[in-house]
Amino acid sequence: MLFRSHIDLDKYKRAIDRLDVELKGDKPKMYHFTMARLKSAQDLVQRQLIHETMRQSRRLLPCYAGRITAVMNEVGDVFPCEILLDVMGNIREFDYDFRKLFHSEQADRVRAKIHNSRCYCSHECYFVTNILFNPLMYGQVAGQYLQLSGKDPKVAK
Ligand code: SF4
Repeated sequence: MLFRSHIDLDKYKRAIDRLDVELKGDKPKMYHFTMARLKSAQDLVQRQLIHETMRQSRRLLPCYAGRITAVMNEVGDVFPCEILLDVMGNIREFDYDFRKLFHSEQADRVRAKIHNSRCYCSHECYFVTNILFNPLMYGQVAGQYLQLSGKDPKVAK
């Protein structure tokens, strides 16, 4: 995750451009699992989007935190992500039924706040879901995938 005050965005851009070139080179280092090429394509889209998001300081993609992902702390409080402190509910108050909590009014309020505030950040995990669950992104991922097709991958360490 990038925190703008700590990061030289130009260096970040140079690093991700280099990774891009290496992945599209003759012997790309790629993950070694089924659909690894698709994951690499999504990574390429994601890194550029993270850079642009932080450069423009604004949301470029809707965030699905609190919609298809959530995090829970050690006392059962559920949050949309690790960054926002807006509690969607405590799992113990919903008889440990996550579905009930997820459909509560409080959870709706948190999701509405994320949407209405156009919340943005550079949290990689959420970019994964925000890209893979957003059909509008499939064209970009497919474009990167096609540029990786036919490569002879080496296993990334
Ligand atoms: S944009 Fe970032 S901080 Fe905002 S809800 Fe999504 S993951 Fe959390």
